[in-house]
This record gives sequence, C-alpha cells and structure tokens, in this order.
Amino acid sequence: MTAGLSHAERDLQQRARAFAQRTVAPRAAAIDRSRDYPHDIVAALAAEGYMGMTIPAELGGQGRSFLEAVLVIEEMARACTVTGRIVVEANMGAISAVMAYGTAAQKRLAAELVLAGDKPAICITEPEAGSDAAAMTTRADRRGDHWVINGTKHWITGAGISKLHLIFARAFDEAGAPLGIAGFLAVSPAAGLEMAYREPTLGLCGMPEGRLELRDLVVPAAMALSGCRFADLINAYNSQRVGAGTVAMGIAAGALDHALAWAERREQFGRRLADFQGLQWMLADMQTQLTASRLMLHAAARSRGPDGSAFPDPMLAAQAKIFASEAALKIVNDALQIFGARGYSKDFPLERMARDVRMFTIAGGTAQVLRTLVASRMLGRKLPQAPGPAA
Ligand SMILES: Cc1cc2nc3c(=O)[nH]c(=O)nc-3n(C[C@H](O)[C@H](O)[C@H](O)COP(=O)(O)OP(=O)(O)OC[C@H]3O[C@@H](n4cnc5c(N)ncnc54)[C@H](O)[C@@H]3O)c2cc1C
Repeated sequence: MTAGLSHAERDLQQRARAFAQRTVAPRAAAIDRSRDYPHDIVAALAAEGYMGMTIPAELGGQGRSFLEAVLVIEEMARACTVTGRIVVEANMGAISAVMAYGTAAQKRLAAELVLAGDKPAICITEPEAGSDAAAMTTRADRRGDHWVINGTKHWITGAGISKLHLIFARAFDEAGAPLGIAGFLAVSPAAGLEMAYREPTLGLCGMPEGRLELRDLVVPAAMALSGCRFADLINAYNSQRVGAGTVAMGIAAGALDHALAWAERREQFGRRLADFQGLQWMLADMQTQLTASRLMLHAAARSRGPDGSAFPDPMLAAQAKIFASEAALKIVNDALQIFGARGYSKDFPLERMARDVRMFTIAGGTAQVLRTLVASRMLGRKLPQAPGPAA
C-alpha cells in the first residue's frame, strides 16, 4: 500500500488485490508450465472491467487514470506476471496511442476489441532495429485508398493471439517519396500478417513473443494513425514503460510476500529465519527498494509530458523503469536466497519469478538506452549515441 492515494484509489487497489489473489494467483504456476496464453483469466479480467479501464466512458471504458491502471497492474503482477503484462497492454501503449491520436472510427474499433478481451500488440522492433528503432526498414506504400505493408517485426508480445496490431513502418507516397515513420492499425486474422516463429523465452512463458512476417499486408487508408508524428506515437509508449516497470515492481512485491512468510515459518538452529538479524536487514532493504520503486512509478504515472501531452513525462518514466526493473532483479534474487534450496526448485514460486523478472531491464527500452535518454535530457541535447524517438 502507498501513501497519497485517494479513498477511491485504495478501494480499487484492494478490489484488484482480492481478485488477483482469488482468481489469478492459483493459476500462475500452471500458466508458466503449459506456456499457454490464459484465455480464461483474460475473460475474467474483462468481466471485472480490467481490460480497457483507461478507455473513455463514452467508448464503453471507465476513463481511469494511468495511476489507477498502475495500482491494478501491481496487484495482478504480484499474483502472476503474464496477467500483469496483459493488463498493461490492455490499458497503456497501443491502446493509449489510439485513444489520443486515432479517428473516431479507429477509437471505436480499438475500444470494442480491448473491452471484449483483446490485448493489443505494438510492433516496433525488427531483427536489425532494436534499441535503434528508428533504423526500421518495414515499409508502407500508398496504393490508392490503402497502404501495402512489407517487413519483419520480431519480439512482438502477443504475436499469434493479439487481434489489434499497431504497426510502425516507413511510409512512402504513390510516387515513392518518403513520408517518415507512421503507425498503422491492422486486425488479425489478416492476409499477410503471420506469426512465423515463437521465441523460446526464459520467462513469462504464457505470453507468446513472436516474429511477424508482413507480406503485402493491405491496410485501408482510414486505418493509418495520420493525425500524429512518430515522436507522438513514441510518447504514448511512455505509459507502457511505466506499466512495464510496474510489472517488475509487482513481481518483486510478490517475491517479498513469499520471502516474509517463509522466513516466519522456516526454522533452523531452533529459531525462525525471521529471528536472524542478517535476514531481517535483508528483508528491510528489500522493502525499502520496493517502496522507492513504487513511489517513483506512481510519480511517473501521475506526471504529464513537457509538451503538455496526456502521457507520462519521458524523464520520470525512464527513471522509474530503470530503478524499478533493477531493484526488482535484486529483490527477487534475495527472496530466492531466503528460500534456500527450495528457491531453486520449480515446486516453489521463486524460480518462476526469477525467470520472469529478467526481461524488464531489456524490453520497452533497455536500462542502458533509458540512461542515455535521461542523460540527454539532463544535458539539454540529443546525444550522438542516443536512439531516435523510439527508445
Ligand atoms: C520479453 C520481450 C518482449 C518484447 N516485446 C516487444 C513488443 O511487444 N514490441 C516490440 O516492438 N518490441 C518488443 N521487444 C523488443 C525490445 O523492445 C528490444 O529487445 C529492445 O528495444 C532492445 O533491442 P535488442 O534486443 O535488439 O537489443 P540491442 O539494441 O541489440 O542491444 C543489445 C545491448 O546493447 C545495448 N545498447 C544498444 N544501444 C546502446 C547505446 N546507444 N548505448 C549503450 N548501450 C546500448 C543494449 O542496452 C543491450 O544491452 C520485446 C523484448 C523482450 C525481451
């Protein structure tokens, strides 16, 4: 729990915790083992109103703030990392970009899909364009009243299960003149939008990460996000970044819950582990790191961009993601240590959490690239090694 929350925010947090512990936590180990996307959990999330809660009320959502989404995401991730990630992507990132910059028809389409349980996919990364996302080569060629998209995207979260795709591509007009990088909406299944490979990942095993081959994918002109620049679309990604940091923090919170309970229960040398000062200080450090992460993430979620946009401030979002993802690695590792050999066993939850938490210093902007972004802002200029707007 955190200071500074309103009564309504605490109420939402408590309801999300009760739901997550009752419905989600008991499924976490099985989701990891089966590697299957948890459609049953998604149906329950949609029924409880956790899919699309940031969508405006006039489109069927609840118009909730990013902070409210963050409160729910922490509780879901505390119970099950895959579920935490689903709630991020159903409330931040692609869906936020469409709500901010889409046409009325695009907003209606996206809202309908997400409220019914779709987790949208955001398609930026390519085999040769990772941190340097602006080096992407996927292209969209204008042909009359539609665009034709060709290229390869990889490490796409939700590949093969997501319906709504926000695809970033270099746009060219009918004469072949470059128009810059733009966003396009495609709905799966669609001819020319195929998952070619599922990555055999270390963690988050119930969430497919895949390579998408885009081969003459036809997107109607009305499905281009034409009312904004590439930088605006990437700005929307700051909300997803805060969401990703929150999932890391939620895993750490869950790991600390387990470590505390185990330290109170397990006895060695005739005393509970929790009675040893060496472990008490370890637990205190874990709690301190967790509280600091939570405060930074909440501050980022509440912030607004310097351009007055509705998205979190890029500097605060980057700092919060760096801190929370790195703190979570340490907290989960220490929690595993407190479990001793059992921490290393698949029969106990820490082994899964240690695998799940590893991705958060990589995806959504690596810890190194985000540090460059922070330094660029501190120095007041774009550094030569800094990524394009697509960090
Ligand atoms: C689980 C997971 C889910 C993902 N989901 C999505 C998704 O849904 N959609 C999507 O588009 N992408 C997704 N990604 C891709 C992710 O955004 C990229 O992995 C990330 O941007 C880094 O790119 P890369 O892996 O190619 O690493 P590279 O860019 O090759 O970097 C390799 C290493 O070099 C470092 N490095 C690179 N440039 C610099 C620099 N200028 N200064 C200092 N160090 C640098 C990096 O920090 C990293 O440590 C996902 C990745 C993972 C692991």
